[in-house]
Amino acid sequence: MEIIQLSFDDGKTCSLCGVYKPFFEYHRKGKYLFPYCKECSLEKARTWQRAHPERMRQNHHRYDEKHRAERNERGRLRQARDPRLTREWHDLCGQYGNKCLACGASGTLVPDHVIPLCKGGSYDMSNIQPLCHSCNSKKRDKIIDYR
Ligand SMILES: [Zn+2]
Ligand SMILES: [Zn+2]
Repeated sequence: MEIIQLSFDDGKTCSLCGVYKPFFEYHRKGKYLFPYCKECSLEKARTWQRAHPERMRQNHHRYDEKHRAERNERGRLRQARDPRLTREWHDLCGQYGNKCLACGASGTLVPDHVIPLCKGGSYDMSNIQPLCHSCNSKKRDKIIDYR
């Protein structure tokens, strides 16, 4: 794909439709702009897709497969490792008045594993207590149940 450097202050002429358009009408790639406007880019893409229906299907398929696998994996990890994002975590914090169980500080709480994962603790909410950042880092992998 041909890209050219910015040379005008506020717009340039599209090399396909020949219309002078402001820069925001052009796709950007880093500090470079595409030589033709978004409308023409879209039209070009459509034309290419119509001309290569097989390739498009294949690309999409491969893309989907790859990304679905990655998304699933990421989602699973996030749920397992980051209870902050779950409803139960939210409720748990509320239950303790949104305060650190060790020092009583309010503020950003992090989910602490009462029994650290490396010592066989579970990912389960029953093994989670809300602590502030500093208490959480002080506790490290000791087993302390503040509840
Ligand atoms: Zn154009
Ligand atoms: Zn604390």
